[in-house]
Amino acid sequence: MRLRHFIAGEPREPASGRWGEVFDPANGKPFAEVALGDASDVDAAITAAEKAFPAWSALPHTERARWLEKLADALEARRDDFAHAESRDGGKPIKLAREAEIPRAISNLRFFAHAATQFASESHHGQAGLNYTLRQPLGVVGTISPWNLPLYLFTWKIAPALAAGNTVVAKPSEVTPVTATMLGELAAEIGFPKGVLNIVHGLGPDVGEPLVTDARVKTISFTGSTAVGRRIAGIAAPLLKKVSLELGGKNPTLVFADSDWRDHLDTLVRSAFQNSGQICLCGSRMLIERSIYTEFRDAMVERAQQLRVGDPIDEDNQLGPLVSRAHFDKVVGALQRARDEGGKVLCGGNALDRPGWFVAPTVIEGLGPDCASNREEIFGPVVTLQPFDTDTHALSLANAGEYGLAASVWTRDLRRAHRMAAQLRAGMVWINTWLQRDLRTPFGGTGASGLGREGGFEAMRFFTDAKNVGLQLD
Ligand code: NAD
Repeated sequence: MRLRHFIAGEPREPASGRWGEVFDPANGKPFAEVALGDASDVDAAITAAEKAFPAWSALPHTERARWLEKLADALEARRDDFAHAESRDGGKPIKLAREAEIPRAISNLRFFAHAATQFASESHHGQAGLNYTLRQPLGVVGTISPWNLPLYLFTWKIAPALAAGNTVVAKPSEVTPVTATMLGELAAEIGFPKGVLNIVHGLGPDVGEPLVTDARVKTISFTGSTAVGRRIAGIAAPLLKKVSLELGGKNPTLVFADSDWRDHLDTLVRSAFQNSGQICLCGSRMLIERSIYTEFRDAMVERAQQLRVGDPIDEDNQLGPLVSRAHFDKVVGALQRARDEGGKVLCGGNALDRPGWFVAPTVIEGLGPDCASNREEIFGPVVTLQPFDTDTHALSLANAGEYGLAASVWTRDLRRAHRMAAQLRAGMVWINTWLQRDLRTPFGGTGASGLGREGGFEAMRFFTDAKNVGLQLD
């Protein structure tokens, strides 16, 4: 299988003639080749997007919505194929791909189709006459997405960009390029206007950076690691280019003694281990009130040991492998570091003795808030446990470190829950739940977790420029 770019409505070979291998993480073997793009492919894609912009931005918003709905319909009709492809490419359990991620990609397209018809601007009437705001599309925009939720995050970016009237050059992760390529093929099949959506594959420095630096690209919406986010911010700043950065996390899960934690154990386990911990929102630091610490710890360890890890295409498996050799090495290295820091591994802590990049679900205790294990994102099936004594202590543990993406609070005391929610340094807080998403709400983090917010009209505002028009009324 050769995965080509999608430029001006057609598949396109890489100008360099270079291809990279795409691996099946469940066996470590290559199963496809992906185009390794470079600046000339990016240039071709931007040129196509520029050409398509006048007609696309001039379409009535109902027509743009119709195109997004058509793409969603086509995706829905091929949902199983996409789920299988996502499962193989990223090593994610087929059930997760079929029941959560591909449906969410479909919802992203539909949600922003609706947003296209609902988005409105403000007007201000008063002493300064009548002022109204035009919300105009920017032109060509760039999106750069990661491997952990490949199509889910790819569509989460292109849908609002297109709904707002922009044309797009999208760069999926080179690690998981399959479903984005398939979406390009679907767009061609349904006759999606040529050049409106372009996809360029390849490595970050070769494709992502030319996209960021090209003056014709008006904004960059990026999701990925904090290190790359910093790099992009550094390149974009002198160009005064607007960026949205959704970056890493090291999210705390605060479990109070008065919570119904036993009833919520399924969700608490999921919050730590879903997609083998490769979700930016996973709670990787569990903070537990001391009076229930031992009981909670034992229950958590027991449940972690019961998780079925194996071939992601097998319906019964709950966890698959890590996505790549490089990521596997990073996670295994983090396990060794946790031991070196004095952590006690209560379960897991090792790679599975089988082909592919599998790591056993791991629970570690005995590490304080200053350890690298509690400060650096591991992004694997690894959770640490820390006891706390008071609300203040819980907050100080939760707010330690430079990340600020998400947190979950488990308590029956609603006053405490709201107080915590207000004081936690995070862009998103869940109370007695996790990863329950309303697509209208602002999504994003603070500190090292990023800049800006996605979701709902926040995304529509990001992908438009506000122009104020004022007129004297008398
Ligand atoms: P990554 O930063 O390595 O890569 C993300 C994307 O950026 C890829 O498409 C990559 O090719 C590209 N890229 C790499 N170097 C680049 C450069 N110099 N210029 C431009 N683009 C470049 O991240 P990853 O390993 O693919 O994804 C995992 C990370 O993503 C984790 O840190 C995770 O927390 C984060 N993430 C955050 C969110 C969120 O919403 N906050 C969601 C999912 C994942």
